[in-house]
Amino acid sequence: MIMEKERLLIVEYGKKMSTSGLSRGTAGNISIFDKDQGLMAISPSGVGYFETEPEDVVIMKLDGTIVDGKRKPSSEYGLHAGFYKAKAAEGCLSVVHTHSDYATTLACMGEPLQAVHYVIATAGTHEIPLCPYTTFGTPELAEMAVAACNDGQAVLLANHGLVAFGVTLAKAFNLAGNLESLAKTQWQCMCAGKMNVLTKEQIDAVKVRFQTYGQTKPAAGTTNSY
Ligand code: 13P
Ligand code: ZN
Repeated sequence: MIMEKERLLIVEYGKKMSTSGLSRGTAGNISIFDKDQGLMAISPSGVGYFETEPEDVVIMKLDGTIVDGKRKPSSEYGLHAGFYKAKAAEGCLSVVHTHSDYATTLACMGEPLQAVHYVIATAGTHEIPLCPYTTFGTPELAEMAVAACNDGQAVLLANHGLVAFGVTLAKAFNLAGNLESLAKTQWQCMCAGKMNVLTKEQIDAVKVRFQTYGQTKPAAGTTNSY
């Protein structure tokens, strides 16, 4: 079975999408891109995440040609392929699309995600833009979403949901979770009628801080400093 490792990951993270509440039923989809082979592995269309087996994952070229798999690929294969074509060089090697509750609520209100919390910096930007509405699973949606995305690693789809990407599926999935939590915070601020939005400069400073966040190794012989 080709791209077995990627297929197994897609099955694993599909279940995580369901259990974490990021996706209900068959909403959303997941893919991984192998840049060297020019192939993406993508979840099948309309198959429950707990019913999906590794052989149900479809292997495709970015032009839509199916290379392996008996299932129909996700109806959003063009959206995923569009991001790889435009942004693989910038580290877009996995795409996660969700209809998670709060991100979708803001997308239905026509509101971009703003820097109400510093966690937005995990998307590499200070605002997650909103792509105008068009029908799901169309080349128009793919084109518009990529165009709307700017320099960050995510975009909201009006009246639809969220697209997040990363270097790995784990990173794209974590980003989708962070942005859902940010969307909830923003929604709560909006309900309370008060929202202090951080500036681009403040988010740029967080991006610098993230470079040494967590268990990153200090250079040998140096003392740890804040
Ligand atoms: P698929 O089941 O075809 O992946 O579609 C779900 C979806 O979210 C469409 O936008
Ligand atoms: Zn969708």
